[in-house]
Amino acid sequence: MFEEVPSFVDYHCHLDLYPDYEKQFRACDAKRIATLAVTTTPRAWPRNKVLTGTTSLVRVGLGFHPQLVGDHVEDLRLFAKYLPEARFVGEVGLDAGPAHYKTFADQKRTFETILKLCAQAGGKILSVHSVRSAREVISMIETHLTGTDNRVVLHWFTGSVAEARRAAGWGCYFSINQAMLGKTSTIMLIKGLPKERLLTETDGPFTKIGTRPTIPSDVAETTNLLATILQESPQETRKLLISNLTQLEKRTQCAGV
Ligand code: MN
Repeated sequence: MFEEVPSFVDYHCHLDLYPDYEKQFRACDAKRIATLAVTTTPRAWPRNKVLTGTTSLVRVGLGFHPQLVGDHVEDLRLFAKYLPEARFVGEVGLDAGPAHYKTFADQKRTFETILKLCAQAGGKILSVHSVRSAREVISMIETHLTGTDNRVVLHWFTGSVAEARRAAGWGCYFSINQAMLGKTSTIMLIKGLPKERLLTETDGPFTKIGTRPTIPSDVAETTNLLATILQESPQETRKLLISNLTQLEKRTQCAGV
């Protein structure tokens, strides 16, 4: 699978949440963007699986967003049911921001179950949310996924430099979006990471450029900005990101869509 060589990587985008989502799925192939279409609820899995089946560069993640856990604890059963079909898992994780802290205990139970299910199954690639909870997320990953062949991509990482190093030491990848590159502290953090662990993402349509939602092709500009940070040419960075994607996906089994 995914034998075609892409030009760019968007490893965290909610393709199914755009009003013109069918066009967005097709555009990933047309513009040669290897895209991980994350979802926020396991209820979205069957439809996203069908949409992804019509493309060659879109991967689909079985998701259970931490911000939705409070209302949908019963969806965990559905998550477990679909997991054997999924090679990619996301968006999952924890959110200790003020709006979602009240469900944090439920979120932890849910994320723990998801990690245990992934550990049992093996070969999954997870796109993980860690708002104000990087330390907790990293220690749960260490506890449940160490010694398995699952891989983790920390999406929109906002933890400390020490936490980033700890996550990189465990083997985590980091998907970087343009909003992150507006902060000097984040740029310094990225400079300190092994560049073999970097990927790009948009987190569209939740992020914006001006007043419009981002779309996967916006990773071209993110790649250019990252090139400046890494002091490389855009072409070298583009190759680096494709190579990182290939290495990440090579390390896991090829089960599921
Ligand atoms: Mn997201």
